[in-house]
Amino acid sequence: MNYDLVLVRFGEITIKGRNRNRFEKMLLGQMKTALKAFPALEYERTFGRVYLHLNGASYEQVAERLRDIFGILSFSPVVRCLQEIEIIRDAALQVLRELSPAPRTFKVSVKRAWKEFPHDTMEMNQLIGAHVLRNTPELKVDVRKPDIELKIDVQYENTYVYCKVEKGAGGFPLGMNGKAMLLLSGGIDSPVAGWMALRKGLEIEAVHFHSYPFTSEQAKDKVITLARRLSYYSGKIKLHLVPFTDIQTLISQTGYDSLIITLMRRYMLRITEALAEKNGALAIVAGDSLGQVASQTLGSMNVIGRSSSLPLLRPLVMLDKQDIIDAAVKIGTFDTSILPFEDCCTLFVPKNPAINPNLNIVERVEKYMGDEIIRLTDRAIQETETIVLTEDGIPGEAEEKEDSWF
Ligand code: ATP
Ligand code: MG
Repeated sequence: MNYDLVLVRFGEITIKGRNRNRFEKMLLGQMKTALKAFPALEYERTFGRVYLHLNGASYEQVAERLRDIFGILSFSPVVRCLQEIEIIRDAALQVLRELSPAPRTFKVSVKRAWKEFPHDTMEMNQLIGAHVLRNTPELKVDVRKPDIELKIDVQYENTYVYCKVEKGAGGFPLGMNGKAMLLLSGGIDSPVAGWMALRKGLEIEAVHFHSYPFTSEQAKDKVITLARRLSYYSGKIKLHLVPFTDIQTLISQTGYDSLIITLMRRYMLRITEALAEKNGALAIVAGDSLGQVASQTLGSMNVIGRSSSLPLLRPLVMLDKQDIIDAAVKIGTFDTSILPFEDCCTLFVPKNPAINPNLNIVERVEKYMGDEIIRLTDRAIQETETIVLTEDGIPGEAEEKEDSWF
């Protein structure tokens, strides 16, 4: 069926008052930007929903983009009709007839926001159901497990008829909940963690530590590709590339092989905290998942986490690896993540990394590295290269405008 109208429902319905208004305004702005490839679209915002007039644009193409916009709970192609039972039941018939494949059973579900409508829900169910049955003898009613549910939504101004409800990405409009730094490695996990942070309404800036020339240009390109994929969801993304070779070398010279990963992670967090301060971010997001590797035991997370006072958000901490892989496939980062380019951490990985590092010893080793490690940390921050990535490869502006998304 050639629908001309799409009903878009907003998520997080528990948000109240002024925040609700902000949520809706931000989301509408972000929808417009994400759908800028469809200039014919018109937007009609009412409380808690938006009606999207397609004006000839393809529903399928628009739907594909809508599915990835955060804050959208669900959406439906709908037929809008006047508040008259004859018109509504004809629209119902039309919607049903044009379904492909043709359903064998159906049920009518009426919702009345406008209570003054002359027929109550029961009556409407019967009137519409009977009309459909009369005109399509091959269809049967099944109230328990129908092939399709014919929904009649009586609003104040108009009534909407539809069958299909497509799931949106959920979450919050982008950036509504502030900004965080994402520790982005080349692996499977951290891009997923980044997507989850974006979905929760966090703007993210990615931070990647590399050990060039020990790590290759390809390893760097891989991270750029991953960040660019995330920018499909966020419009654009800033990526900070931190030179980490000297710090890693110094750490590996201390002789505490089993603590190398712990120490590296602590310096990564410290540097990220400094970058967060510079860029106005209030948290750090990482892709750790409990028990996955030595640096992700509770003991390790404890000692590593203490090196920064910013909240450390680990959205994957309780997920199984397979769930993370499934998510990576879904968001389109998996194929890049499994490319075999070495990460700075794999290069220096010791044979027996500590699974329960001792904080006192770790702090002593850090003291032992003295001014030198402080100097190298400051230098790494200074020499950090920052690039802004966009999905279409067009460089973004370095400075964000207040309402910017792309
Ligand atoms: P991933 O698949 O995300 O690399 P992983 O299972 O390989 O995770 P680790 O290598 O222990 O796990 O890394 C744990 C987390 O630390 C990563 O998810 C990421 O957030 C961060 N991290 C690791 N290496 C780097 C790096 N080179 N640059 C930035 N962050 C990193
Ligand atoms: Mg990794």
